[in-house]
Amino acid sequence: MVLKNLIRDVKDFPIEGIVFKDITTLLKDQNGFAATLENLYNISKNKGITKVVGIESRGFIFGGALAAKLNAGFIPIRKPGKLPAETESETYQLEYGTDEIQIHKDALAPGDKVLLHDDLLATGGTMEAAAKLVEKLGAEVVQISFVIELDFLKGRDLLKKYDIHSLIRYDSE
Ligand code: AMP
Repeated sequence: MVLKNLIRDVKDFPIEGIVFKDITTLLKDQNGFAATLENLYNISKNKGITKVVGIESRGFIFGGALAAKLNAGFIPIRKPGKLPAETESETYQLEYGTDEIQIHKDALAPGDKVLLHDDLLATGGTMEAAAKLVEKLGAEVVQISFVIELDFLKGRDLLKKYDIHSLIRYDSE
């Protein structure tokens, strides 16, 4: 099964000039969903992972399912103002301006071995900030996985010190 065939390109979303990689077409295909989950699981099994940390919001879909398969807990990283208890924050640079993500302070502890997961790696700014959040709480980033990687944006360069995996890669738009 070629998973790439299940990804839909949406031009000029959410703003002009962006080709949005829409995973909803993959999610609705029961074989595509199961194969994606199985492939992600095969990357991360037998690594001693205790927690899967998913990034809002598309990182929650496979992140949650993966946590159950890995017999690990699931932790959400969210946009500001969404998490109800005490949080730790990290700000990061966007093309124009900055953005911020948060995690519950008591979500992780030293000794936790973390798999960080999101749907897509673009410039890498979001995932770099997420890895910093995990480390601020004293946990170890064991692996980082994505469904999709946009190679031409060179997000990997920001994440060199980590073990990064992605299932579907694009070398141009
Ligand atoms: P970045 O911080 O640049 O690596 O951006 C990653 C985040 O933005 C992920 O959470 C993605 O869901 C989203 N994203 C960025 N570019 C795209 C794109 N072309 N298609 C779909 N999602 C994207």
